Amino acid sequence: MALSKFPITKNANPKQPPADETLSFGKVFTDHMFLMNYDAGQGWHDPRIVPYGPFTLDPATCVLHYGQAIFDGLKAFRGPDGQIRIFRGADHSARLNRSAGYLCIPQLDPEVVEASIRALVGVDQHWVPSLAGTSLYIRPTVIATETFLGVHPSASYLYYVILGPVGAYYPEGINPVRILVSEQHVRAVKGGLGAAKTAANYAASLYGAEAANKQGYTQVLWLDGVHHRYLDEVGTMNIMLRIGDEVITPALNGAILAGITRDSALRLLRDWGLRVSEREIGIDEVIAAAKDGTLKEMWGTGTAAVVSPVGELGYQGQRHVINGGRIGEMTQRLYDAIVGVQYGTGPDPHGWARTIGD
Ligand SMILES: *Cc1c(COP(=O)(O)O)cnc(C)c1O
Repeated sequence: MALSKFPITKNANPKQPPADETLSFGKVFTDHMFLMNYDAGQGWHDPRIVPYGPFTLDPATCVLHYGQAIFDGLKAFRGPDGQIRIFRGADHSARLNRSAGYLCIPQLDPEVVEASIRALVGVDQHWVPSLAGTSLYIRPTVIATETFLGVHPSASYLYYVILGPVGAYYPEGINPVRILVSEQHVRAVKGGLGAAKTAANYAASLYGAEAANKQGYTQVLWLDGVHHRYLDEVGTMNIMLRIGDEVITPALNGAILAGITRDSALRLLRDWGLRVSEREIGIDEVIAAAKDGTLKEMWGTGTAAVVSPVGELGYQGQRHVINGGRIGEMTQRLYDAIVGVQYGTGPDPHGWARTIGD
């Protein structure tokens, strides 16, 4: 398959991209989308770029009933030099395949996935905003499309990619969030789908997240589903904390999504010679450190926010303020380093950013 030569049907009625200042997240989409089909016996076929628009699905389409669906999320950035950079596109493409494996979805060629993203961003490149902090969000997705009721893997699938310009996550500077340690609800368990980026995990997180919102918290800190003791993730981000001079993040244990931002942060922290542990960390250890003052900072990592500092932790009816409710030094340093790679304003020692058209 020639990677850069996907057939294109141009949108006859292209829209005017909104002004950068008005952008939020996930509401506006560009003029084109990428599609590719899978059918048993035929494999993946017919990659193409077509005008953005709705799908027609039979009401018995199996994804609508049994949730056999995966996605990924990454971004393209327009730097002050005018270049458009996609951050770790090959790694996101590889992760889509790992998610596919957990959901019994046939493997895609990761080079085709990355090429599809690059080609689509190329076609809609005038949609990549340029205001500081803005970006183009990229959503590759696979859904099961066979028409049947019954629980078994589908014989046909649709791979699609859509794009949408998104606003700065922190238009007024980085704001620490308040998070509630969930003692009742769990997002995922070992042996389940926690390591896959799949719709089911988001459905499972809604109830606990709403409960936290009602108590005035922004996000949930998810504990493991077996002991309700060890940290898994925060909201839809990976969690990191610094106790004394040790940076700790939960090891990838099957219940945790292997975040690309998590990986970027760990690599940078190790480059900087810091002591980094991927290990089990119990909520009792975190609360003890919060009480004796050794919990220096805590933050979530994810593509949407890069880093999201935790200013306050609610646990068993008590509130624990972290670093005076302000962003920590290491959190800020990570944010600056990663954003520098994304916009081409800082060094890229690991070659994470790839410009469009190179
Ligand atoms: C997407 C996601 C993350 C963050 O992954 P990134 O690759 O850093 O964006 C973390 N946890 C969950 C559950 C996620 O779905």
